[in-house]
Amino acid sequence: MADLRTLVLVLGDQLDLDAAAFDGFDADLDAVWMAEVAEESTHVWSSKPRTAMFLAAMRHFALALSAAGRPLHYTRLEATTHSGSLGAQLQADITRLRPSQLVMTAPGDWRVLQTLKSVAAANQLPLDVRVDRHFFTSIREFAAHAKGRKSLRMEYFYREQRKKHGLLMEADAPVGGQWNFDADNRESFGTNGPGTVPPRTTFEPDAITREVIELVNTRFATHPGQLDSFAWPVTREQALQSLQTFIQERLPLFGRYQDAMWPEDPWLYHSHLSAALNLKLLHPREVVAAAEAAYRNGHAPLASVEGFVRQILGWREYVRGIYWTKMPGYLERNALEAQEDLPAWYWTGATDMACLRDALTQTLKHGYANHIQRLMVTGLYALMLGVHPKQAHAWYLAVYVDAVEWVELPNTLGMSQYADGGLMGSKPYIATGKYIQRMSPHCKGCRYDPAQRSGDSACPFTTLYWDFLMRHESTLTQNPRMALQVKNVTRLTEAEKQAVRTRAAAIRQGHVP
Ligand SMILES: Cc1cc2nc3c(=O)[nH]c(=O)nc-3n(C[C@H](O)[C@H](O)[C@H](O)COP(=O)(O)OP(=O)(O)OC[C@H]3O[C@@H](n4cnc5c(N)ncnc54)[C@H](O)[C@@H]3O)c2cc1C
Ligand code: SF4
Repeated sequence: MADLRTLVLVLGDQLDLDAAAFDGFDADLDAVWMAEVAEESTHVWSSKPRTAMFLAAMRHFALALSAAGRPLHYTRLEATTHSGSLGAQLQADITRLRPSQLVMTAPGDWRVLQTLKSVAAANQLPLDVRVDRHFFTSIREFAAHAKGRKSLRMEYFYREQRKKHGLLMEADAPVGGQWNFDADNRESFGTNGPGTVPPRTTFEPDAITREVIELVNTRFATHPGQLDSFAWPVTREQALQSLQTFIQERLPLFGRYQDAMWPEDPWLYHSHLSAALNLKLLHPREVVAAAEAAYRNGHAPLASVEGFVRQILGWREYVRGIYWTKMPGYLERNALEAQEDLPAWYWTGATDMACLRDALTQTLKHGYANHIQRLMVTGLYALMLGVHPKQAHAWYLAVYVDAVEWVELPNTLGMSQYADGGLMGSKPYIATGKYIQRMSPHCKGCRYDPAQRSGDSACPFTTLYWDFLMRHESTLTQNPRMALQVKNVTRLTEAEKQAVRTRAAAIRQGHVP
């Protein structure tokens, strides 16, 4: 005889009281199950900020469940009865609680879904995996969109979403007569810098979060990153406050400075809402609605609001569709046959390259870097160096507080490393150091020169850009969007090409710090 009707499984990125898993929940018959497991911090070398973010938010969510009167079986990381892994802990609790069925909202990680399915099967228990209605688009709907298309492009998917959900629309047309305001959204801060940017919204750790910080500092002492300035929103109330201040203070200039960088300031006009969204403390519908309202009431310009909505309604949904329709094979892709190791200094920030040092230091300090730092600094360097995509993936999944595999993997392997051969983006994002020089003042304080492609003071980005074009010339010439860039290689003399190769080899051997 079963003792419990339903055990509702809630994972660390499913912290939503209104999730589908709770539909029909009866506190007299059912209970919630949550477990903190070290495995989630060790299967990639998870940074301290990332682990603390998940554990602090989970412990606060446990309080919200109690306040809502939902019985909860919660295993803490330090519990003496802990079984070690997610699967083993669930097995132990099934044996103890004897539920007659398991229910959950679809998880964000293919590996975790396989683990839970196998525990359910081993116990001959039905596992009801419900559609995650947090998202605008279900996987089934995405698969229908993708079916029969030779190539997938985010832009077409995004336009469909705008029409379907009536967002930023005037009848059947986009407001302002344009779908895309990218051309208005590419400014740098110029020599005067960003001036006074409204500070990011921070939250002083409360007793629960302080306890988590202590636990993480002890238990994961050798893991990368620091917790001295941990100030992320870890409750729904805090997440809503972050949303409100973003809309009020930073959204109006979000678009214009979306691609800009400034030393020692990753926050700028970005929203810093990705972790709150991915842990489900915030709903994308409420985020997008708040942004649209800011446009409609004249608080923020259309180019900014459209640029922001595109990230959430477009990219965020699109990458999730790619992940779930292409896994598990997607993880194995390596279209450019990249085999290099990720430099060890990605885990410490110890490099002389000013732009990389800045992005890596902030990443380790806060568990955050903005999109352009991830794509056009850390990602760009790994791509052009030829780092194995799985190593790049393991790093990105480990270091950011917003990292969950469904969103991290397509961004890393697809958008940034071009390892999917063009599924996510139509061409590899490659650039010389001059791109970084245009978008930031980093090069002024760097020992390298972005205009040099070979020699001792050559910027490694510039060297690796030319080396990349030469190494992949035959593949890239087949891509019409790369034709112009590849053609430039033919202008180099044989001696110039050799000088680039020599310098690139020195970089790969670690002789260029
Ligand atoms: C190599 C690489 C790895 C990444 N890994 C992650 C990750 O693990 N988790 C994650 O949430 N995002 C990831 N991104 C996407 C993006 O960089 C982050 O969402 C963004 O930097 C988070 O900061 P923000 O909240 O201030 O975003 P903002 O710049 O304020 O953007 C608003 C929101 O749009 C969404 N968004 C923006 N760009 C993307 C995108 N490309 N894909 C999906 N959603 C997007 C996020 O929810 C974000 O909060 C990655 C990008 C790259 C290039
Ligand atoms: S010179 Fe090159 S390495 Fe140095 S900051 Fe500029 S782009 Fe980065």
